[in-house]
Formats: sequence, C-alpha cells, structure tokens
Amino acid sequence: ETHYSTAQLQAMDAAHYLHPFTDHKELGERGTRIIERAQGVYLWDSEGNQILDGMAGLWCVSIGYGRTELADAAYKQMLELPYYNSFFQCANPPAVKLATAIAEIAPAHMNHVFFTGSGSEANDTVLRMVRRYWDLQGKPTKKTIIGRVNGYHGSTVAGASLGGMSVMHEQGDLPIPGIVHIPQPYWFGEGGDMSPDEFGIWAAQQLEAKIQELGEDQVAAFIAEPIQGAGGVIIPPDTYWPEIKRILAKYDILLVMDEVICGFGRTGEWFGSQYYDLKPDLMPIAKGMTSGYLPMGGVIVGERVAKALIDQGGEFFHGYTYSGHPVAAAVGLENLRILRDEKIVEYVKQEAAPYLQSRIAQLAEHRLVGEVRGVGLLGAIELVSDKTTRARFAEKGAAGSICRDMCVRNGLVMRAVGDTMIMSPPLVITTAEIDEMVSKIWRCLDLTAEQLGV
Ligand code: PLP
Repeated sequence: ETHYSTAQLQAMDAAHYLHPFTDHKELGERGTRIIERAQGVYLWDSEGNQILDGMAGLWCVSIGYGRTELADAAYKQMLELPYYNSFFQCANPPAVKLATAIAEIAPAHMNHVFFTGSGSEANDTVLRMVRRYWDLQGKPTKKTIIGRVNGYHGSTVAGASLGGMSVMHEQGDLPIPGIVHIPQPYWFGEGGDMSPDEFGIWAAQQLEAKIQELGEDQVAAFIAEPIQGAGGVIIPPDTYWPEIKRILAKYDILLVMDEVICGFGRTGEWFGSQYYDLKPDLMPIAKGMTSGYLPMGGVIVGERVAKALIDQGGEFFHGYTYSGHPVAAAVGLENLRILRDEKIVEYVKQEAAPYLQSRIAQLAEHRLVGEVRGVGLLGAIELVSDKTTRARFAEKGAAGSICRDMCVRNGLVMRAVGDTMIMSPPLVITTAEIDEMVSKIWRCLDLTAEQLGV
C-alpha cells in the first residue's frame, strides 16, 4: 500500500475534496488536519499529535473509539447479508432486532421505529410523516411546522428548513414554505433584564403566540431539540419545558423532539425527552445510535402516529435505499448492547456528568468566562470581554476561534459557536480524562486571553 505524507494528502485534498461546513480558502491557508487513528477518547493526527476528543467526533462517538466488538459485528453481518432492502414487505434480522431494542429503551408510548441513513433524513421523514398524519385525520390544513431560531435539524432541504440557522437559510432560499421559527430559549445571549425563569416563560409563550397567529387549524407540529446542540448547547431555563408542555396540551399539535444529539444517553437518561419529562409524538435519532461507527438514523414513532400510519395509512410512499441497512443495524445493536451491559448511561448520570459539571463550573472563575452551563455530558462556556456586564468582544466569533485553535494546538478538540465554546465528550470518558480536559481548557483560556490582550 502506498504511504502518503501529510503534505501529499493535503495537496490531494486541496485538489479534489469539497468539505462540508468548510471555508476552502481558510482550509487552503492552514492545510487540512488529517486524523489517522483513534482509541478511547483520543485521536492521533498524521503528524503524530495526540488530541483528546472533547466533541466525540460530531457528538456521536458515545462508546469511544476502537471498540473491536463493533468491527466484528459489521464483519460478521457483511459476510452473512451485506445488504438487502426493507421496502416491499422485506426485513432483515438485525434491523428487526434493533427496532425492538430501541422500543424497549424509548418512552413507553413509543414502540415503532422508521429507519433512515442519517439525522437529516430522519427529519425529512418527520416532515412527511406529520403532514401525512394530519391528512389521515381529515385535517389537511394542518401543515405548518414550528421550529426555533438557531435550532439544527440537518442539512437536507427539509432539515435545513426545520432548523433555524440563518446562514443556512441564506444559501438556497430556505426555509421551504410551511415552516416558521420562534425565538430560542437562550437566556445568556438574549435574556436581557429578565431572570432566567421569566425568560424561559417568555420564550415558551412565543410558541403559543405563533399558534394563535397562524391558527391552530394550520399548525401540524412543533420541533425542537431537548437541548440545542449545534446552536451552542442552549440549556433552556427550568421554566421553559413545563410551559411548552402546558401549551401543547391546550392545542392539538404534534411534538417532535430531535434526539439526534441528546438520544442514547448524553443527558444521563436514554433520551433528552425523559430528562425533561416530555411525551413526544416523534423522535428523530442518529449519531449515538451506532456511536458513529456506521451511518444510521431513524424516527421513533409514538402510538398516535404509528396507529394512523398502520391502520389508516395504506402505503407511505417514503423510504431510503439504506433504511434498515443490515450492517449498520448490526453495529447499532452491538452498540446498544455495550451501552446496556456496561451500564454507560447510568455511569453518565451517576458519575461522569456530576463530575464534569462540577469541574467545568470552576471555569466560571476565569476572567474570560461569562457563564458555564451544562447537562449530562454537554457543556458550554461563554467567552466575554467583561464578566460583570456579560459584554462580548467587539468582533463576534474572534475569541471563540482563537480559543478553538488554541485547544487543538494543545491537544484538545472543542468547538466554537461564535464566542461560545462547547463540549460533548464520549460518554465513557473517565474522571481522570475529565481532569485533563478541564486543565487544558483553563490553559487555553489563559492563552486566548493573552492573545486578545485582556
Ligand atoms: N438533528 C440534530 C439535533 C443534529 O445535531 C444533527 C447533526 O448534527 C442532525 C439532526 C443531522 O444529522 P446528520 O448530520 O446525521 O444528517
């Protein structure tokens, strides 16, 4: 096998590779970082640098890197049945077993799974399913889906439309018709003079105002992440979800909880909806479903929608070549077995999350930090120029990108959303590795402050 040097790989990359979510001019100046291998919570790049992965890839490598059981499961399944479709009344054993295993951990009223290849496809499925549901109820005017500003639900046309990222909407004339957005429950950034509790109520009541503006007979569903991930780990104030629950009980609208990040243990419960005691009708899933070892997504469907699709629906003209892919399903099944047998979700709840949250809370003392927040193994650190007034630096995102670069140079992956530093490490991270992560963050905050001259 030919060995390529880092410089050769970078040159080939620059010549041929268009990357997702990447400014290619910037990439050209820096050179692509080639990640070669990984083990546990650590990555190694092609220069031999060891980097602690504080993001679990893209929030997905829950059980950590290098679990050979998943490779064995994929290998065995590839020999047995590498592919067959699940269209036209067919199924394969791993997909059937995975649907059953997911129904066992899902909230009691959610017993069916529709498989997709990704989280974006899961949300495209959601859009078609909720509209199909209301058609079947004889209420075809109920079409509009309400999402949230800065929510993230994927990159396909429906996913990016349901999401509320203005930079995505600007490219490609989105959202598509029938999708509107309400403000996010982001107290630190947008709470103004309100207390977190007051702001939580205000933000939730934007849903009621939007339903009243559009008319209940026009609104099909409300979609939200339990905790907004890509938007900057936005933890809603304690008052938010109870008020949303009150509003949803009043109007006949489906609740879609996007569990692509929060699902499969990230909050210390199997699903973020359980953490917040919510009863969704649909839950899109992906990422932690296979710990990212193979691409797979799905929608967990509650009784109300499942019953309509099964009893009244006839054929639902929707699905993907890779829906219920046998190899991905075998890997998903083995991933779930590991999560269960090794009691990883319990570990998050009882040990890792309390430890991580208490350690990152100490970062609030740093002169650059305006707020630290988190739930489970999700965390966010707000970088500010003035702690007392919560004032930001003049150039938006500059502090965040300096800090992110400092982190990588010092052997830690964190992500910057504007000037919010976010983390989502593998669920299996040990307390010693959490200590390492937090001391690296402190050091990088110092270096960032130095570079900013504060
Ligand atoms: N939904 C949420 C909440 C996500 O965070 C993501 C990806 O980051 C998606 C959907 C899209 O998933 P995918 O990238 O697998 O299409």
